Amino acid sequence: MKRFFALFITFFTVSLLALGAAYIDGKMRPQHNKEHLWHDTLQRLNELGRQQHHHSVRYQQYAIHAQQAQAPQIATLFRAISFAEEVQCENCKDAIGSLGGLFSPPVEVPVALTSTHEHLQNAISEKSDYHHGKMQECITGAMDEGNRYLARMLTWCDASDVKMITLLKQAIATEKASDDTTSVTCYWVCPTCGNIECEQLRTCYCPHCMTSSAEFLIFE
Ligand SMILES: [Zn+2]
Repeated sequence: MKRFFALFITFFTVSLLALGAAYIDGKMRPQHNKEHLWHDTLQRLNELGRQQHHHSVRYQQYAIHAQQAQAPQIATLFRAISFAEEVQCENCKDAIGSLGGLFSPPVEVPVALTSTHEHLQNAISEKSDYHHGKMQECITGAMDEGNRYLARMLTWCDASDVKMITLLKQAIATEKASDDTTSVTCYWVCPTCGNIECEQLRTCYCPHCMTSSAEFLIFE
């Protein structure tokens, strides 16, 4: 009887320990998965933020080059796009911070300058590539994770990029117009989300984030 009782106590103790271990493992596992999930998101955001910073610096250089090449309208457009990229980069940094991550500052690389026409084409090409590829992946990832704040911020970036592509294509279409140095073109950029507008696309409030157009920065 004593032997049966000892076996029962041993079995009970082992079962209790196994149950406790399973409980602790169950509590730990989601945290690991969650950490991996945010790790991927933070990697994507860091990559996006670094690219936006590089674009901002490059378009600023393109603007200076266009101004020197007697193409002031294109210079104005590049200045506006550069600022929009800077705003988007700051939003990216905020999103990284809100997820408990750190933004890895990009390594500065020298900007290769060729011609205004090629600069416009380069900008269209890289923005189109990102719009059709990486950005869709980033937005889908944020939606799948249920992170609507991040998905919204990325959607702002994507919508702004699409407008930039349209404006860059318009600039190529009018690039050779002889009145480039005399006609005036203005661009407005939302300081909250980086939305860029021209005269034909003007709205009282930013259609992305509802910031009043009175707060938009004017590039002319
Ligand atoms: Zn906005």
